[in-house]
Amino acid sequence: MTQVAVIGGGPAGVSCAIWLKRLGMDPVLYERRSLGGQLHDITLPIPDLPGEPWIEALALIDRFKQHLHAWRIPVFEGQEAVEYRDRLLILRDGRERHYPFLAYAPGLKIRQLDIPGQEWIASHSTSEMLMTSYPYPVLVVGGGDRAFEAVVRLAETEHAVILIHRRERFRARPDFQKKVVKLGIPILVNTQLRSIEPASEGLTAYIEEEGHMSVMRVSAVMIRIGMEPDIQPGLCPLPQSDVVPLWADNRIRCLGDAVNPVAFRSIVSAYASGMAAAKELVMNLKGEA
Ligand SMILES: Cc1cc2nc3c(=O)[nH]c(=O)nc-3n(C[C@H](O)[C@H](O)[C@H](O)COP(=O)(O)OP(=O)(O)OC[C@H]3O[C@@H](n4cnc5c(N)ncnc54)[C@H](O)[C@@H]3O)c2cc1C
Repeated sequence: MTQVAVIGGGPAGVSCAIWLKRLGMDPVLYERRSLGGQLHDITLPIPDLPGEPWIEALALIDRFKQHLHAWRIPVFEGQEAVEYRDRLLILRDGRERHYPFLAYAPGLKIRQLDIPGQEWIASHSTSEMLMTSYPYPVLVVGGGDRAFEAVVRLAETEHAVILIHRRERFRARPDFQKKVVKLGIPILVNTQLRSIEPASEGLTAYIEEEGHMSVMRVSAVMIRIGMEPDIQPGLCPLPQSDVVPLWADNRIRCLGDAVNPVAFRSIVSAYASGMAAAKELVMNLKGEA
């Protein structure tokens, strides 16, 4: 059986591994953290999976585990792939494995703000920042689903929160927006975070609102301004469009959110790209493509 290394244990990688197995291949799945990918960040029930109304993300991850187990697909969690060359997959700990093909489904990483203090924010998790409790609000920056979901989660755990967004309108789903309004969260629009400094208690945030600078003391800052593909050059030198089957020549196929058009990023499109990648590989190997 042809061995395929599937990198990434989010919906795309899991779907690809299951389809590869179903089509007679021998997939092995590597996940640098734990299975689930962005599902770990979804704290509200998922409303839009056909056949699974309001499923909790953690329940879906459990089903992934059961499904992979049922197909006897080896899964290596806590193992990060760093390079693929000459059919060798190289892991972060230096180990090497031979695989003729690589299905690469790395998902997305949080986009960073290019401001003074960003490095400090990036090197401290929100829970670290909230470990010492100061009587200041948490500042959430962004206008999409991630920002709104973070606001709701913080408010529900009894943190004071302020949301700022550089535009007038939000990208977040209407149901998220309604929830935040209902919770009475203060929202500043046309407002940008310009810099951040650690203070004796919490952090000092320098904010620009329609040309006026102001200073705000906050206990933590969460930057949720969007996501970008997490493609590492050593694993996929040429980011490939999801619709171009490049398996046979390159032996590498990118899939999932990392290459799906922004508007299509979702669990179902991740499933679909996993299926498409698996079918393309099998068709290429049979010489049908
Ligand atoms: C807050 C939030 C709410 C959402 N709500 C919904 C919703 O309601 N409905 C919906 O359809 N979608 C929703 N989504 C989007 C959905 O979760 C994503 O579209 C989907 O998870 C993308 O799957 P993926 O497998 O492409 O990537 P990911 O889920 O990002 O998985 C990629 C995985 O690859 C791993 N990885 C990356 N690089 C390596 C490496 N080098 N070695 C090993 N492992 C690696 C990562 O650790 C990660 O686990 C939401 C997303 C977020 C963040």
